[in-house]
Amino acid sequence: MFDKILIANRGEIACRVIDTARRLGVETVAVFSDADRGARHVAMADDAVHIGGPQPSESYLRGDTIIAAAQATGAQAIHPGYGFLSENPGFVEAVEAAGLVFIGPSADAIRSMGLKDAAKALMDKAGVPVVPGYHGADQSDALLADEASKIGFPVLIKAVAGGGGKGMRKVDAPGEFADALASARSEAQTAFGNPDVLIEKFIASPRHIEVQVFGDGTRAVHLFERDCSLQRRHQKVIEEAPAPGMTDDMRAAMGDAAVRAAEAIGYAGAGTVEFIVDGTEGLRPDGFWFMEMNTRLQVEHPVTEAVTGVDLVEWQLRVASGDGLPARQDEITLTGHSFEARLYAEDVPAGFLPATGRLAHLAFAPGCRAETGVRTGDEISPFYDPMIAKIVTHGPTRAIALGKLRAALRDTQVAGTVTNLSFLAALAAHDGFARGEVDTGLIARDIGRLSVAPEPGAGDVALAALAAAGLMEPGPMTGFTLWGGFRRQILLEHAGAVIVAEIEIDGCEARVWTKEETVQLHRDGSGWRLEGRRAPAVACTGDLVTVFSGAGHGFKVPDPLAVLSAGAVVGNVVEAPMPGLVKAVFVAGGESVVAGQKLAIIEAMKMEHTLVAPRDGVVEACFVTEGAQVEAGAAVIALEDEEAS
Ligand code: ADP
Ligand code: ADP
Ligand code: MG
Repeated sequence: MFDKILIANRGEIACRVIDTARRLGVETVAVFSDADRGARHVAMADDAVHIGGPQPSESYLRGDTIIAAAQATGAQAIHPGYGFLSENPGFVEAVEAAGLVFIGPSADAIRSMGLKDAAKALMDKAGVPVVPGYHGADQSDALLADEASKIGFPVLIKAVAGGGGKGMRKVDAPGEFADALASARSEAQTAFGNPDVLIEKFIASPRHIEVQVFGDGTRAVHLFERDCSLQRRHQKVIEEAPAPGMTDDMRAAMGDAAVRAAEAIGYAGAGTVEFIVDGTEGLRPDGFWFMEMNTRLQVEHPVTEAVTGVDLVEWQLRVASGDGLPARQDEITLTGHSFEARLYAEDVPAGFLPATGRLAHLAFAPGCRAETGVRTGDEISPFYDPMIAKIVTHGPTRAIALGKLRAALRDTQVAGTVTNLSFLAALAAHDGFARGEVDTGLIARDIGRLSVAPEPGAGDVALAALAAAGLMEPGPMTGFTLWGGFRRQILLEHAGAVIVAEIEIDGCEARVWTKEETVQLHRDGSGWRLEGRRAPAVACTGDLVTVFSGAGHGFKVPDPLAVLSAGAVVGNVVEAPMPGLVKAVFVAGGESVVAGQKLAIIEAMKMEHTLVAPRDGVVEACFVTEGAQVEAGAAVIALEDEEAS
């Protein structure tokens, strides 16, 4: 076994590798970019080397710098993680030329699977079923169109150098072929610098089922399958092992084919053979075809670990350090069922737009395996994949593992950025998915229902108001019963709108009301109770309050002085609470406003005070303009008499 390894990656996978290395007594060296100075993987490693700027091309993709870091720190081997340099044969050769060990397959093995057309030809020869189609060298338009017709529509055009779903086009009819070909080629040229394509039969009701393999350079074993059919735009969202509906016959056939694929290229280390499966008539031993092989550890490897009890990173380190395969095929067993959900900082209703932000609060459900590279306080930066964590559950049956996934998602707490948590929760609760009816089109078919952004309920608003007023935790001496007669107005902002909440507390009872609704809460020794149940947890960080019901609802708490200013109302007139500069005026005479709506901002002592409408009404007059200086008590805006409006 090695004494010391360097991990040429970041985020959750770097942390994941460090965990196992530590367990095996192997020292670790992390590398980091400017954006990752305080990152979790840097803190976890025994040593860390700065390798450059925040862009991957300035740091995590700089093979020479990384190799120099390994040499300078005395690391004997480099673990590439996934992504970045993990499938780069030139890097493998450079690592070996520097006298270091690459923890993964040989450069030749990576090369033979690097292009989909060559890989398919190779697999065909090795007796592995490949998707019917054309993967030849002749790339002329006429020939490709002709081949597409021979295969029969619909067909899929794929970039031979493709990955991540890029350069892929489904074509339903001959008339659409020429345009689709042109756009697939141009996307492939831009993304991969290689315009070549292959054509495949489009499998109806496709399922993505992949087999985990492990080789020692000569022999290989498989560790069963994973089903990764829950995809959006060809990206995996929830993965599971084993595949729902898998039969012994088909598992044996797929396992054999995957082992044949790995042995055909003298594969060493962990790899994944991806198959496309025709789900229309159930799973049959002759109904799967080779798509591609990923010559690295896969993002979704934990579900395989959960059902086999194997630590795949341990196996990687053992095989790379010269041990034989740690287990024979008949020693590898499958127990229970496992799910993984990928938690991302992304805006699902906006079309899965990647998001950024500081994680004001991050906590996972006790008992689930959460693989993460970030902690409370860390930043999701725009430079890297916005994955926050992988949430992994295991149970004796699929139903139990799925129930545990739903519970784990319910108890996941993220504040400070939008996430796909409610989308994951909706997927985990999807009827068809629960029945195991998965195919790659499931998400797209139900996207409307799955991507609804849940609105906070009245109870959530009430809790946020209590938290903003500092009433979540009893003081160490006072307790709550001393709050007889407490009454206060709180402003909250949610989704750009201001909510005015009034709080009244008497002993252990709280009443919180807004324009729309009144909520009654009761306090006992363990905290607030709402509708007879324990209220959801709340995190307060800076000016952000997050109520963890559903997928979490974030509220901004405007400056406390702005809260006061809402009360600076005399009759129908909203006054300036202090002397200052009018920064903004949002309304004009004659305009209708609703309670809580922003009227104007006054800046004083470098702080902004937002004046809001004390009630619904119509603006009678606006007495100030932007840039004006006002005195304390100066009239800013007058509303028409309530009867008049
Ligand atoms: P597949 O390639 O079949 O989609 P995965 O879902 O495991 O397999 O990974 C998606 C792609 O994105 C892979 O090429 C992987 O290496 C890359 N990738 C995923 N997450 C990250 C990350 N956090 N950093 C860098 N690369 C990543
Ligand atoms: P990438 O390298 O981008 O991961 P893949 O060849 O692995 O490309 O395909 C990605 C996804 O596209 C698959 O997981 C599957 O959902 C879909 N797909 C690929 N080939 C086919 C096919 N022949 N028929 C139907 N769907 C397919
Ligand atoms: Mg793939």
